[in-house]
Amino acid sequence: MKVLVMGAGVVGVSTAWYLAKAGHEVTVIDRAADVAEETSFANAGQLSYGYTTPWAAPGIPKKALKWLFRPHSPLLLRPDGSLFQLQWLGRMLLNCTEKNYAQNKARMVRVSEYSRAMLQELHEELPDLDYEGRQHGTLQIFRTDKEVAAAQADVRVLQDYGVPVTVISNPQQCLDYEPALAGTVDKLAGALHLPNDATGDCHLFTVRLAEQCRALGVNFLLNHTINQIERDGSRIRGVIANGQRFEADHYVCALGSFSRTMLKSLDMSLPVYPVKGYSITVPVSNSDGAPQSTVLDETYKVAITRFKDRMRVGGMAELSGYKIQLNPKRRETLELVVNELFPTAGNVAEATFWSGLRPMTPDSTPLIGATRYGNLWLNTGHGTLGWTMGLGSGRVLSDLISGVTPEIESSDLSVIRYV
Ligand SMILES: Cc1cc2nc3c(=O)[nH]c(=O)nc-3n(C[C@H](O)[C@H](O)[C@H](O)COP(=O)(O)OP(=O)(O)OC[C@H]3O[C@@H](n4cnc5c(N)ncnc54)[C@H](O)[C@@H]3O)c2cc1C
Repeated sequence: MKVLVMGAGVVGVSTAWYLAKAGHEVTVIDRAADVAEETSFANAGQLSYGYTTPWAAPGIPKKALKWLFRPHSPLLLRPDGSLFQLQWLGRMLLNCTEKNYAQNKARMVRVSEYSRAMLQELHEELPDLDYEGRQHGTLQIFRTDKEVAAAQADVRVLQDYGVPVTVISNPQQCLDYEPALAGTVDKLAGALHLPNDATGDCHLFTVRLAEQCRALGVNFLLNHTINQIERDGSRIRGVIANGQRFEADHYVCALGSFSRTMLKSLDMSLPVYPVKGYSITVPVSNSDGAPQSTVLDETYKVAITRFKDRMRVGGMAELSGYKIQLNPKRRETLELVVNELFPTAGNVAEATFWSGLRPMTPDSTPLIGATRYGNLWLNTGHGTLGWTMGLGSGRVLSDLISGVTPEIESSDLSVIRYV
């Protein structure tokens, strides 16, 4: 069958890969000059299988209120003038109950764990796929006893879900995982280590996977802005991009944060809000002073991930609409965390600064599956975890389109849960 994938981020390209492997004739359309140029470009680089957790959790509303008034806050809320922003926040708050949290978490862990399996399979199939990946886990560090005490609840949840975790009560032990913390370990109160987490450059991964897709015959139409999706009753008839019409048997919407705006003309109201985040990428000049893997600083909710000769430092959640302009204040926070934890690793003044829009659903679970249009499928809404969940989501959607029963339960992943 002919399948047209809209969007060449990590999610669209992963979907195209599995569709092509299943024997379909695949075209990917994107407005950018290359793949992974938007949110998949410079994320924090964590394959966070252990910390696959909904944002909406019991206790979050109280915490969020405190964060809003703190300097270097991980959370910022700026009214964007839309009713949608308020509705989205309201829906998110409704998900902060114990019951909803448990349901959302279970769904997300299912997709994440499947993605982990898919990445392992991909490593076996394409052992030379180089995306500066590492398999050294995540070290989550706490600076105060209060943070250590609060983490007990996380440990219980991790154990309930069978996620291996080491509780570190003597901060000196952090040096077993991250020797470069030697200069700052005295300021720490404790840590958790999640050995199953991995890291890698999502942009590089997507570029390399796209090369493999091309080798399977996938056609990438880059520099093509989709302006319109044409419908014919309950089916999609074609997609208009750069004034040209493209037709297929099936259409996949993997447009990240722009999925909602694009599908509005089809009278669909996707609950996907653009949650802005920031990162800096610092060239590593002193390898011994840099992290080995990901260090997650609980105080600022900032992650520092090591690639080959760079560090990616990412965080913050800003609910302020679709604008991606860079706010120098956010850079200050990211630089502060690097200078405190890894002061000799590299010069933050040489870092590149970036922002991206996480396509976030109120229940943090992506939208994967069918729509009320018979030949339109969704793979979007991956929020904070699109790099972690991309492969598994791509495989599930490819199976659904191919008429094959996915290897994991998928009926509760579709947009139908919001209808
Ligand atoms: C600061 C930050 C840190 C993060 N850290 C992590 C992390 O450590 N681990 C993790 O798992 N996730 C992380 N994420 C989340 C992750 O980056 C996203 O979930 C993921 O990139 C979403 O991928 P996507 O393919 O859905 O969207 P995108 O990568 O945004 O792809 C959508 C594509 O659609 C295209 N498009 C949009 N509109 C049109 C149009 N009209 N016509 C044609 N093309 C169009 C865009 O050009 C884009 O290429 C982070 C995000 C941020 C912002």
